[in-house]
Amino acid sequence: MMKQVIRLSTAIKLTYNQFRMSHTLPRTVQAAVMKGPHQPITIEEFPMPELPVGGILLKTILSEVCGTDIHIHHGRLGSVPYPIIPGHVSCGVIAAIRSSEPINDIHNRPFKEGDVVAFLDVAETCYSCYYCSVVKQITRCTHRKVYGITYSCNDGRLLGGWSQYIQLVPGTKLLRFPDGLDPVSYCGGGCGLNTALHTVDRANVQLGDNVAVLGVGPVGQSVVAFARLSGAARVLAIDSESDRLEFARQMGASHTFNLRDYSHIEENDRIKEINCLSDSGYGFDVCIECAGTPKAVHDALLYTRDGGRVVITGQYTDVGSIEINPHQLINKKHIQIRGCWGSDFSHFYRAIEIQSKYHTQYPWKRMIGKTFQLSEINEAMKAVAERSMVKAAIAPNGTDWF
Ligand SMILES: [Zn+2]
Ligand SMILES: [Zn+2]
Repeated sequence: MMKQVIRLSTAIKLTYNQFRMSHTLPRTVQAAVMKGPHQPITIEEFPMPELPVGGILLKTILSEVCGTDIHIHHGRLGSVPYPIIPGHVSCGVIAAIRSSEPINDIHNRPFKEGDVVAFLDVAETCYSCYYCSVVKQITRCTHRKVYGITYSCNDGRLLGGWSQYIQLVPGTKLLRFPDGLDPVSYCGGGCGLNTALHTVDRANVQLGDNVAVLGVGPVGQSVVAFARLSGAARVLAIDSESDRLEFARQMGASHTFNLRDYSHIEENDRIKEINCLSDSGYGFDVCIECAGTPKAVHDALLYTRDGGRVVITGQYTDVGSIEINPHQLINKKHIQIRGCWGSDFSHFYRAIEIQSKYHTQYPWKRMIGKTFQLSEINEAMKAVAERSMVKAAIAPNGTDWF
């Protein structure tokens, strides 16, 4: 089904129009394959798949490498059907559509070959399980399928973005790029953008709120921007890496707090320092945990004012437990705690619209440390795993989009 190839490519510069025009379909497609946890990722060659009726083929412009891919590579995400072609958030040009009927966007405008599009990485939700149809928690659908995560490539289908072409299953939710939005900004926001929008919805940020964001990785950075856009008067970014905090300022943080600078002081003094940074001095109206450590959940409860809200977003994989005194930290403080898992089409649609309007104000583009070629995928993974860059992008067709 697939055979391994080793090819080094050099990036070439093309305009989008040139990229769109050059879509004569090749007979084979190169894609990066993750065979299992901790195994090196290899480049494999697949036959160009035949599209099912209703299927769409994209020529990939960019795909992201994010923390989720690292979790998958470390075997920390349950039920991943290795081997897979990773890459969940991606964008591309429509290279082929197989349908006798038009395939329309949500405004009833037909998609056509040459359109630059992004798609919701959740390829399938059933709309008929208990979670989809009764309690309306679509992100918890029991039949949820996600590109680059829950599809094996054993059947030869190209269902991940680290591939020259991506095969979209019938029913995939696509959006044409709004005017002005560029693929680099889009991939800079990446999956974190949708999660961040969902998170800020869950946080119910009000005009004038003081918001603290614990952890400013890819999700946290977009949470800072969306909290600001929601009318937060003050947004404090908390992290232990100064470059991330500096970037959070560009994403709209009014204040920053570097945990590393305060590691030598008593915890109670640190809490006082942070709570003093809220306007009232009582603590923050809203604390949003995007750090991915159990301790950050504990700290979020400490930094929230009585009657405030805490949203927990960073615990995407099981990173362990933390002891919490429910009387002191929840009951007596009268705190609302909300979890946030994944995102659905509404978040994707709104996030991309917001990004198209604000991408010059909030530099999502600069979240990408570097664009890598397919042959450099292991280096890209290493850079993200070692946190030497917030996010990396993959250009599987060897094009330099910067
Ligand atoms: Zn369902
Ligand atoms: Zn991601």
